[in-house]
Amino acid sequence: MTSTMSRIDRIRPRLSEANVDALLITELHNRRYASGFSGSNGWLVIPADDARAPILATDFRYLEQAAQESPEFEVVQMKGEMQKWWDELARPLGRIRLGFESADLTVSAHKRLRDVNAKIPASQRPALVQTANIVESIRAVKDDAELALLRRAAQLTDDAFAHATSAVEAGWTESRVSWEIEQYARGHGAEAMAFESIVAAGPWGARPHARPRDEAIEMGEPIVIDMGARFSGYCADMTRTIVLGEHDEQFPRIYDIVLAAHETAAQMIEPGMSGKDADQLARQVITDAGYGEQFGHGLGHGVGLQIHETPHLGVTSKDTLEPGMVITIEPGIYLSDWGGVRIEDMGLLDEQGFHSFTGTPKLRMLA
Ligand code: ZN
Ligand code: ZN
Repeated sequence: MTSTMSRIDRIRPRLSEANVDALLITELHNRRYASGFSGSNGWLVIPADDARAPILATDFRYLEQAAQESPEFEVVQMKGEMQKWWDELARPLGRIRLGFESADLTVSAHKRLRDVNAKIPASQRPALVQTANIVESIRAVKDDAELALLRRAAQLTDDAFAHATSAVEAGWTESRVSWEIEQYARGHGAEAMAFESIVAAGPWGARPHARPRDEAIEMGEPIVIDMGARFSGYCADMTRTIVLGEHDEQFPRIYDIVLAAHETAAQMIEPGMSGKDADQLARQVITDAGYGEQFGHGLGHGVGLQIHETPHLGVTSKDTLEPGMVITIEPGIYLSDWGGVRIEDMGLLDEQGFHSFTGTPKLRMLA
């Protein structure tokens, strides 16, 4: 309760900066973040003026849940035609500048909204104003309640990985490993996986987003396992690369470069840095080793209610890292005839640097 109120208090000053009097929140995760409401349908109106109560509009299926989950919101019902309930919702707002989330509303939803709004007399209706990234940028910096849930999701991820990798043998299919992970995570409190696990052996692992196949895993091939549990809405994200039995000669060489890139970034990354410079920390190590071209994705991303959130850490990033962000560090090298190595931790960035939530040990070579 207190946490959603303080979230609204963080949103309000940003509205004046965006030159709107209130924000219409339609995006699912932003809605849950700002209100605590976990139903699948609903819009919020957050007035910049803290004397005015925020509004949660939803349909009759969710009225009770909305009142329970979002006690500081005025709950109104979306009933019947949109024209009717929009009129009831919007007219009392009066002639204000009402921001909408341009990244969420589809072109047709926006047209519909504009049309119903235009039926309200001009002197009594809000002006619809395009906004971008207001709640997303606030969500990038996590509060204590969120950090606790993210740690829990990471812990479940560690446990599911330990369970599946202690059971796996040569001859298992990638899909079976993926299912073993999911079964364990869900059996121990995860509401779902944050995304479909990647279990990619041998050359298949050269595709960073490979889907698990019904192919048997063989001894000696690198296996990329990228997975994360979701707990109470919050996602975890981790990658480890393992080998069953004896690895080939190439593996320790590639693995050590990726590990060095990972550790360099984890040790050097700090608030105030750009997402581009953070990426460069790891990219330089891989480039110096001669594999720059084989690290074809960004260093990492924010994680929270969504698996990929602000900030982006990569060569094209315009984001600046701030204390309180939860990010991944996940360099990789991918060789098409051989396979891939990726090592990914998720953790908190604060004034002291990066603190991993991921507890799963990393393979160490004896070379
Ligand atoms: Zn991942
Ligand atoms: Zn990731």
